[in-house]
Amino acid sequence: ADFTSPYSSLLPSIPDDQTLPQFMFSYKHQTLNRPERSVSVPCTIQDHTGKKVYWEELRQRVQHLAAGLKSRFNLKDEDAVCIFSPNHVDYPVAIWAVHTLGGVVSPSNPAYTAEEFSHQIDVVKPALILTHPACLETVSSSLRSSSVPKTHIALFEPGHASIPFLEQLIEEGKSKVQELIPKSFGPEEGKSKKAFVCFSSGTTGKPKAIALSHYNVIANVLQTLVHWQCNDPKRPSTIMPVGSVIMGVLPFFHIYGLVVSVHFALFAGLTLLVVPKFNFVPFLKSIVSHKVTHLLIVPPQVVLLCKHPAAKDYDLSHLKAILCGAAPLSVELINMLGTMLPNTRIAQGYGATEATGTISAVHDSQWTNVPGSSGQLIPGMSARVVKADGSLAGAGELGELLLAGPNIAMGYTNDEKATRETFIDGWLRTGDEVFLDKYCNVHIVDRLKELIKVKGFQVAPAELEGHLLDHPDVADACVVGIPDDFSGEVPLAFVVLKDVPRQKAETFASEAEQLKRSISQHVEGAKSRYKWLAGGVRFIQEIPKSPSGKILRRLLRDSARASGDSS
Ligand code: AMP
Repeated sequence: ADFTSPYSSLLPSIPDDQTLPQFMFSYKHQTLNRPERSVSVPCTIQDHTGKKVYWEELRQRVQHLAAGLKSRFNLKDEDAVCIFSPNHVDYPVAIWAVHTLGGVVSPSNPAYTAEEFSHQIDVVKPALILTHPACLETVSSSLRSSSVPKTHIALFEPGHASIPFLEQLIEEGKSKVQELIPKSFGPEEGKSKKAFVCFSSGTTGKPKAIALSHYNVIANVLQTLVHWQCNDPKRPSTIMPVGSVIMGVLPFFHIYGLVVSVHFALFAGLTLLVVPKFNFVPFLKSIVSHKVTHLLIVPPQVVLLCKHPAAKDYDLSHLKAILCGAAPLSVELINMLGTMLPNTRIAQGYGATEATGTISAVHDSQWTNVPGSSGQLIPGMSARVVKADGSLAGAGELGELLLAGPNIAMGYTNDEKATRETFIDGWLRTGDEVFLDKYCNVHIVDRLKELIKVKGFQVAPAELEGHLLDHPDVADACVVGIPDDFSGEVPLAFVVLKDVPRQKAETFASEAEQLKRSISQHVEGAKSRYKWLAGGVRFIQEIPKSPSGKILRRLLRDSARASGDSS
């Protein structure tokens, strides 16, 4: 029995011959109510300066930047461009300028260490890295340790005498824009042309490059729009009506920020407040001063809203909705926030990089989550729930969620094995354990895959285990997630030492502590902060494995949880 969104028939056909910028700037449909963008409603507002950019100006900046990039760097069709920067008001401009030239954008976490970013550039082989002066040092050392032959660099802001910055390139582009031939596709080409290469570990192993087509992103934007104005496609969305001001604090490199904040919000005629970095008190101030109506946030930010003493000093009662995603949000937190903000809708949605963003969300006619659920499947999505014995589950029965729809990614770049194991006959294996009710509300119960989510960010155990094995004292390692009130989960490492008698060091507290410290520091020296072993290090005699040598990760994870481990 497959589950299908009850509103799938309302979804218009997804254009498969348009680039993202063509879709963003000129999509029109007879029945679908694409909200009109009024000339007086800004597209983006820069948080710290209050600078506003309007639709026509945005469109022109895209054209001019495309022309500037072409003339300065000779970017060609299918060239990759890494964006390694905090959120910036010109982030969408940069994305669509690259697409206008036929290029592929690979967004990256600006908190990455040089080692982490050099992995991304080795895989993506960018012709250009677009970065921010604050990240320039990391970029330079990544390039030193990378094998990429010649990569150009440009900056969002001026910061280095010999590196061009965006405003400069836009200025240069103005005189060249006549020669620009914007990329266009033939029929169906949008399905095979990559718009983004993002990183996700999927159900197993290290982070992999996942290719998302122009069609995938266009689909997810239209699916979300229809979901939020479902019962009557001509009716404006009540969830995010025109005039809404959306908090753009989610990182734009992550699928949730990239597709919902940047593409959905701007497509749907909303105003995106661009916030480069999350700091709680300035965040509260910005909600008040910019009259933000909608928050798109992750669970730790909900925890702060509920528990941080400063939250009470600000009047947030004008907030219309708080939409939370990327990791589970407990019913307790939803209720706590609901008591604090009785006139604000609070709901969670569920998504994944491999599904190009949203999978399920609250629906226009069902404005709050069915308790315990992460919303209803969006139109165009079909789901299958596979029970442990391989048979298909019915409503209310538990199993692994498989998904099909126009938003399911193209696959992992240069990794046929992972692609074959994850995308099976058109169905994406999510690695999430769920049940669906008969209305297609998705209830996520557990995660079957290895992935750990820290504050909504992916941490791949295999990446940390590989790194731990480089430590001189470590013979074997297994990393699992343990619950944490703030971060959701944090990584805990089970470690087998090379010199087994030293394991007895558990009893010699000081030596054991020293070793654990050294192992933690080994991670801290090479990985971004959210990957650090905040759950601690535990010595163990042996990592339990199946006869085929597969780590029995859930055994260790469940034993850590059963012994009440939490950070
Ligand atoms: P990412 O690709 O980083 O968005 O990670 C996708 C994974 O995050 C999903 O497969 C889930 O395991 C988890 N996830 C996302 N949203 C939720 C949610 N609302 N509740 C529980 N888990 C979630």
